Amino acid sequence: MFDHLQLLNHLSIGIAVIDPEIKVIFWNQWLAEHSMISSEAITGRDLLSVYPGLQKVKFLNKIRAVFDSGQPVFFNNKVAANPFPFYSGRSYIEKKLIPMEQTVIISPMNDPAGNIEHALITIFDISDWISNQKNLLDSKQLLERLSHTDELTQIPNRRNIMDRLTEELRTHNRKNRPIAIAMLDIDHFKKTNDAYGHQCGDMVLHETAQIMSTLLRDYDAIGRYGGEEFLIILPETTSEQSWTICNRIRLTVQNHTYRYNGHKLQITVSIGIAAKKAGESILPDRLIAEADRYLYVAKESGRNRTENKQSTMI
Ligand code: GH3
Ligand code: MG
Ligand code: MG
Repeated sequence: MFDHLQLLNHLSIGIAVIDPEIKVIFWNQWLAEHSMISSEAITGRDLLSVYPGLQKVKFLNKIRAVFDSGQPVFFNNKVAANPFPFYSGRSYIEKKLIPMEQTVIISPMNDPAGNIEHALITIFDISDWISNQKNLLDSKQLLERLSHTDELTQIPNRRNIMDRLTEELRTHNRKNRPIAIAMLDIDHFKKTNDAYGHQCGDMVLHETAQIMSTLLRDYDAIGRYGGEEFLIILPETTSEQSWTICNRIRLTVQNHTYRYNGHKLQITVSIGIAAKKAGESILPDRLIAEADRYLYVAKESGRNRTENKQSTMI
């Protein structure tokens, strides 16, 4: 004959039954294996005296609530990841002890007259599910970071910095504050590539991006706009202030010694600035075109220069 009780011992979930005094009436095989306490050893014992840690998740109150209200209660892994101090089945696969993440459900068991005489505790090992969720989240975050970051320089890519510019210009218009942007281009970069190779050029790009990043304030932004061209956004910054910041960048690059395969290299950059006063609204493309114009002036005037509207008017 089919033994229904044996079925409970074959389930891959924990099944326990307790009475209103929290004494264990039934403890299935899964629980015996994960707790290392046999059904014979635990039957008749107070569950809380066997697992005093359950009080941390207010287990007693919850069980009382089940007996009083006749409604089931849940412990999901947000409330408590491991109400029972068990180890996950994953421990065998990963060859180390991994605490078991659990979902625990306590449900009332009515007798034929409708009285609640016992409560059923069901314990699910959700460690695999949690681990998969974490992997998915990690991959999602990695993909998100990759899609916003320029791989070579590890600073925002063109799409990202352009999105930021649109956002900053919106704030500029709304808050009535000044804003400045700068286009920066490495001088004679082709010569660096030609003389020392493309890999050396890559190193120069990476190091220059790092130098610039360290010189900017927290609320500034920098991105790789194109090959050896960078876009800098300086929110709430006047034309004069932006010139000072950009010129500091120019001088720092000029004074920095790049090292590659035993060679020492000096690099210079040219910078064009476009600044807007508070209340002067402008579209991103127009602002970039203006910065580009002053970058062109810097190049034409001999390179290793910072140019803006003021400097060209002198
Ligand atoms: P200028 O002073 O007028 O800016 O001269 P330039 O040589 O810097 O400018 P040009 O536009 O003639 O050359 C830019 C060079 O940048 C050409 C291209 O091969 C190089 N470049 C663009 N992207 C990369 C990159 O990712 N890595 C390396 N190593 N070189 C790059
Ligand atoms: Mg260049
Ligand atoms: Mg260029």
